[in-house]
Amino acid sequence: MMVNWKETQSQILSGKLSVFEVVSNYIKQCRNIESLNAYIEIFEEEALERAQQLDEKYKNQIHTPGRLFGMVISIKDNLNFKGHSITAGSSILKGYKSIYNATAIQRLLDEDAIIIGRTNCDEFAMGSGTDTSCYGPTRNGDNTTLVPGGSSGGAAVSVQMNTCMLALGSDTGGSVRQPASFCNVIGMKPSYGRISRYGLIAYASSFDQIGLLSKDSNAIAEVLEVIAGHDPYDPTSSPLPFDHYGSESTPEKYNFAYFKASIDHPSLSRESKKLFEGKITELMNEGHSVEAIEFDYLDYLVPTYYILTTAEASSNLSRYDGVRYGHRSTEVTDVESLYKKSRSEGFGTEVKRRIILGTFVLSEGYFDAYYKKAQASRRLIKEAIDNVFTQYDFILMPSTPHPAWTIGSFVNDPVTMYLSDIYTVLANLSGIPAVSIPYDTKSGLGFQVMAAYMQEKKLLHFLNNILIMA
Ligand code: GLN
Repeated sequence: MMVNWKETQSQILSGKLSVFEVVSNYIKQCRNIESLNAYIEIFEEEALERAQQLDEKYKNQIHTPGRLFGMVISIKDNLNFKGHSITAGSSILKGYKSIYNATAIQRLLDEDAIIIGRTNCDEFAMGSGTDTSCYGPTRNGDNTTLVPGGSSGGAAVSVQMNTCMLALGSDTGGSVRQPASFCNVIGMKPSYGRISRYGLIAYASSFDQIGLLSKDSNAIAEVLEVIAGHDPYDPTSSPLPFDHYGSESTPEKYNFAYFKASIDHPSLSRESKKLFEGKITELMNEGHSVEAIEFDYLDYLVPTYYILTTAEASSNLSRYDGVRYGHRSTEVTDVESLYKKSRSEGFGTEVKRRIILGTFVLSEGYFDAYYKKAQASRRLIKEAIDNVFTQYDFILMPSTPHPAWTIGSFVNDPVTMYLSDIYTVLANLSGIPAVSIPYDTKSGLGFQVMAAYMQEKKLLHFLNNILIMA
């Protein structure tokens, strides 16, 4: 099944194809790939019914089709969709149903998109392999012994295996871009605040951002345009206006920078380095300028990220106390044991590890040494990045140091797994937009293009042109 959003929509609008046919085909494909465990739930009946209603209304001319009329989308299990279960891959939320729509979901529905199901993810979006989920691991569709990446691994596989046109995930430190890279699809994290976080289950609030995965850059541009923009329910959503992201125009020549340290880094595999260097040559041959620059903070990125995100997570996750949401232990004697038992039973190992780390770095004796230092380090990193963009259009970076690993490899070695986030956390630490683009259809590796804060239009312009030229 080819994914070409514009072509599909024009076939629907001209009557050659019905929304019902489109949705039925995707549902069939969802069933075909059940063994990969990409979806926690497929909204089969509901999606088909909605498709039928959309077809009827359009045929009877009682409905002007919305911008996303016919767009089939999967959503990560941490986005609230009213009346549907939502668990963020955690036992602690089993049985809980959404009582409202996330702003992004509401905006999709208002423009006639169809939501096909909710996808598996690492518990509370903490992980890099979609293997900390209480529903078990998701498998990579290209090689089922490998992880699909994470935390939005279900989302990436849903796109990789053609079960939808686009997936919504969330990206706190790479959770959209890294699985996109492992699954050979495009993954974009917009600037912090470009899309409202209202209705996205919080992991680390000053890093979290909804991201988009697809094989079609036009689908990403169009959906971003629908869901971006200020939202009174999220004070951190940006009031800055935005342009027409999908507009087509002639290719431009850009100034790229890349960090010398990023390609000399010992964690970068030979294969990833070779592909990255090949991309530099290719861009230069196309007439772009690509320059190596110094960046002193590469090895500070992961520690800064993990100190700040675990601190924020420990605070955000305190709301799951056995009283207000989801799982409540039955073996309790008093209120303290209710909290302790419910949380001990409901959270998995990785989440517990991060809550403990987060409370540690925030504790009185260590606050200055860790949390405060990490905040200062985040500021320095952001200043250095802002400075790069005074001279360059884009920063070029590998998406990951190496391709996907075998499921279970890092169960006893979380630190090595954390270190593999070295290339993605920068965009979240500094709030800038970044997109991971596959080198090809099989390597399971991608490169990132990062733009200055709120420069999504430029980024999408580059993305559209590079894919048209390819
Ligand atoms: N792998 C990173 C982490 O575990 C990124 C997660 C994310 O972006 N949600 O924190």
